[in-house]
Formats: sequence, structure tokens, C-alpha cells
Amino acid sequence: MIRPILHAPDARLAEVCAPVETLPDGLIEDMFETMYAAHGRGLAAPQIGVMLRLFITDVGWTEGQMQPIVMINPVIEWVSEAQSVFEEACLSIPDFSRKLARPAQARFRWTDLAGAEHVAELDGIDATCAQHEMDHLDGRLITDHPQAQGEAHA
Ligand code: ZN
Repeated sequence: MIRPILHAPDARLAEVCAPVETLPDGLIEDMFETMYAAHGRGLAAPQIGVMLRLFITDVGWTEGQMQPIVMINPVIEWVSEAQSVFEEACLSIPDFSRKLARPAQARFRWTDLAGAEHVAELDGIDATCAQHEMDHLDGRLITDHPQAQGEAHA
């Protein structure tokens, strides 16, 4: 079921989300359906008004390479000093994008749908996308970051 996506300045987008204890039935399926319908590459639960610490990403699907990832209760354990700049958009801020500098690499720890724990060092668009979605769990949007100088990646 496609759920309505909240748009800024909805106050829920500025809230810090609570850890997931019990995953609501059908939530993940609805999130993927909603994200794909909106042509997004990432969606955090608070963007559909579910104030829990989880997000999904699929950075390759628009190029025909499906890579769906579900991160439940994610934490960032480490980030690189090196930064990279991407032009970021957000499903909660239609018709807007902003160049942001973020750590080029980030190590995430999270739980998957089956309850298994994962640790992975992400880089490139994977790192940027996961950090963007992580921001949503702490009530931060791309408009809360300063615009980056310099050339952006794709
Ligand atoms: Zn966003």
C-alpha cells in the first residue's frame, strides 16, 4: 500500500525517532512500494509518519540494478575524514536539491528483517544515501545542512 509522504515543514520530520522493538506488520512492504512509486532511492519511516528508527534504500533500481536494503535500528560506528559532495534530493522536499558534503565512507551497524546483525563500510552514493536517511531518524533534513562548495558527484 502506498502511504502518503510527509512534506517539510511537517513537525514530525524534525523529531528524533524511537528504537524499533516490534516491527509493524506490512510496514517494510509499504515503504518499498511508496519509495518506488515516488521514484526515490531511499525512504525513512518518519517520512510516512512512523516514528521509528528504520529506513530502506535501493540506490541502483533506477538504473535497473535492484539492491534493496532494510536498516533497522542503524548506528554509524565510524566515518572517514574525507568528504564527498553529492547533489541530494529528498522525497519530503519536492522540487529541491542541494549539494552537501558528507563523510565519503561510513561504517553502519544495523539489524535486517530476519533479525540478523550486519556491519558494513559504505562509500560513494551508498554512504551518502544511508547518511541522508539516518539524518531523518534524528529529525534532520538536507535544508538543515549548509550548501557545499565545489563540484558535486552525479
Ligand atoms: Zn530525505
